[in-house]
Amino acid sequence: MHCPCSPDSLYENCCKPLHNGAVASSPEQLMRSRFSAFALNLAGYLAQTWHSSTRPEVELSDNPAWVQLQIIEAVQQGNKGMVHFRAFYKTDNELGMMEEKSNFVREQGQWFYVQGEVLA
Ligand SMILES: [Zn+2]
Repeated sequence: MHCPCSPDSLYENCCKPLHNGAVASSPEQLMRSRFSAFALNLAGYLAQTWHSSTRPEVELSDNPAWVQLQIIEAVQQGNKGMVHFRAFYKTDNELGMMEEKSNFVREQGQWFYVQGEVLA
């Protein structure tokens, strides 16, 4: 199966290793794996990669069908990172889009999602 984060990659070579415990090497890779986790309803992985200071109770009962991820910009400076992306989803027969600049931090070699600025 193709990876939810990219039609050009196979899930088993892309986000699956991260979902199985491999460490993300960059904020973009973590962002991609989290998008795929939303697409595949992997609440445990989302909780695990959410920084403890901002982590909510991860609840995916209203989760739409996430269909496409577009990375606009990904920046890493030391142990901080930012990924600007658009994520497309489907509800009933409508296509929706959210655009966000997400902030990431690396602690003890692991990247975590901290928070995002929603742009659209
Ligand atoms: Zn992927």
